Amino acid sequence: MRDRRYNVHKRPGSGKIDDNKSFEDLLSETRKRDSSDNSYRERSLKIHGLICAKCGREFTYKNRHLLTVHHKDGNHRNNPSDGSNWENLCVYCHEDEHSRGLFADYLSDEK
Ligand SMILES: [Zn+2]
Ligand SMILES: [Zn+2]
Repeated sequence: MRDRRYNVHKRPGSGKIDDNKSFEDLLSETRKRDSSDNSYRERSLKIHGLICAKCGREFTYKNRHLLTVHHKDGNHRNNPSDGSNWENLCVYCHEDEHSRGLFADYLSDEK
């Protein structure tokens, strides 16, 4: 029986993990991966429509990037497919919904 889990010859750090990667590399990779996860945004826009839930401002396909998806419970990973945790807010209302400092974080996280 070959059990490779106990291979003592393999030193930590010599595996596939690239230690040379900077935090920014990881960040950009995460963002690339996020673009597929961001389908919840499209779904939310589809479910709730291209309209801000707060001020009622309407958006078109062209300027819909100004419409952002707000997570009601603040948890970006909580994305029920029925859209119950989403609220479409224009960037202005979204900024209002969060404190200003946090909003910058939120946007950079979403992109
Ligand atoms: Zn608004
Ligand atoms: Zn939000």
